[in-house]
Amino acid sequence: MKDLYLGGIWSAASDRATSEVLNPYNAEVLVAVSVAGQAEVDAAVAAAREAFDHGPWRRTSAADRGRALHRIADLLVRDREDLARTESLDTGKTLGEGRIDIDDVTAVFRYYAGIADSDAGRLVDAGRADVVSRIVHEPVGVCALIAPWNYPLLQMSWKVAPALAAGNTMLLKPSEVTPLTTIKLVALIEEAAIPAGVVNLLLGTGQVGAAMVAHPDVDLVSFTGGLATGEKIMAAAAPGVKRIALELGGKNPNVVFDDVDFDTAVDYALAAAFVHSGQVCSAGSRLIVQDGIHDRFVAELAARADRIRVGNGLDPESETGPLVSEAHRAKVERHIAAALAEGAVLRAGGSRPTDPDLQDGYFLRPTVFSDCTREMSIVQEEVFGPVVTVERFTDEADAIRLANDTDYGLAGAVWTSDASKAQRVAGALRHGTVWINDYHPYLPQAEWGGYGKSGNGRELGPSGLAEYRETKHIYQNIDPAPQRWFKG
Ligand code: NAD
Repeated sequence: MKDLYLGGIWSAASDRATSEVLNPYNAEVLVAVSVAGQAEVDAAVAAAREAFDHGPWRRTSAADRGRALHRIADLLVRDREDLARTESLDTGKTLGEGRIDIDDVTAVFRYYAGIADSDAGRLVDAGRADVVSRIVHEPVGVCALIAPWNYPLLQMSWKVAPALAAGNTMLLKPSEVTPLTTIKLVALIEEAAIPAGVVNLLLGTGQVGAAMVAHPDVDLVSFTGGLATGEKIMAAAAPGVKRIALELGGKNPNVVFDDVDFDTAVDYALAAAFVHSGQVCSAGSRLIVQDGIHDRFVAELAARADRIRVGNGLDPESETGPLVSEAHRAKVERHIAAALAEGAVLRAGGSRPTDPDLQDGYFLRPTVFSDCTREMSIVQEEVFGPVVTVERFTDEADAIRLANDTDYGLAGAVWTSDASKAQRVAGALRHGTVWINDYHPYLPQAEWGGYGKSGNGRELGPSGLAEYRETKHIYQNIDPAPQRWFKG
């Protein structure tokens, strides 16, 4: 197995270590892949350092780097079906969701291809004719890019595309649970003739990630994953004062006022909570529903949640797939048990499906809890599975209070037919993205990221490129004369 890509060469681990990648639909082994050790981390960093310090990439014009990103996007389009199928097999998500992911990945590469040379710095008026002052942007250096398992290629693309556009070199580490599409992306990057050493691929667990973060020759760490890991990374990046960007978890409020179109709001609430079995950082996992429609809303939501067709992601009849792993399903089941113990009322799901075809996979039925209160762990902790809690509110102030009652602050939504109320509530929410009368859409050109414990920094949009750039002020005195500051 030669799945590690180090300095432009596909390599096996020096100790031949491998790990198995499982299909979450039936627990069968899809493939075994190489696992990096410290030697491979060192080799990847050395290759990236050499490519940064002496290679052509950062000296290539931004416009040419943009053209290279377009070449990668063209290859993603060519291989769309294969990549979507691989993502579905590896994560369990439906093939339809896999196709959306690959289209979104392509859009991200195209977006950063388009803006790579859009901000080429600026001249600053120093107020003196004999001074030229300008602001220039430069790449940061060697970047460690670490991604989670829920949107493996998409989350990685939010890092790789701007990091490349800005002229950096990098080490990629996908999650050990879902590495397959990232391996394919790196092969496409090679095919697109990105110079050797610019992109290096490491595979393995958090141990490999930790070795990347700790490496003294890494300049920047961009991480998407859980809060506890993010906190460790922030601490580990302190020696050397590495630049860090953290995209962490969420406990996202979906606020529904009673003046909405009822069926539409229920429909979107289901999608908000149960797309990809709720394994979405921005999942609408905390429904907050106004008194007037609350009881009817919960009843309809539970009835429709019960009818969601859970199954093999590759079966066109399936509407949602399994959870990603046995360990993750066990964690979600512990959350469900805690909710029941704390008095939340189970209205749908809460257990594994009984269908004999689904017994080998990591399935869990879409789960709805009502009568939830802020004290319950199910309302405060990120579950990251097919579980939605419902809280009840009376008026606008109450809705805002509940929606902001979380340490996280990634995303949220407000549903109302009153446009000014919608804007007021959206303005009051302490979350990085707020949807009004919609849920889940994001745009490559719009910033994404969290308040509070959902992280720091922003991906996507112009800020997503700024994360990977140093800003330098160059000040030239074009007619220096002695100034006699010191008289002697
Ligand atoms: P995780 O934190 O367990 O792992 C994420 C990645 O970090 C993996 O590649 C893992 O191997 C690596 N890692 C683990 N320990 C490490 C360490 N000490 N140092 C360096 N790297 C380490 O997260 P996960 O379970 O893969 O993903 C789920 C989490 O990701 C959820 O909390 C979810 O909300 C979050 N997420 C956030 C966003 C966002 O945009 N904010 C998007 C997707 C997922």
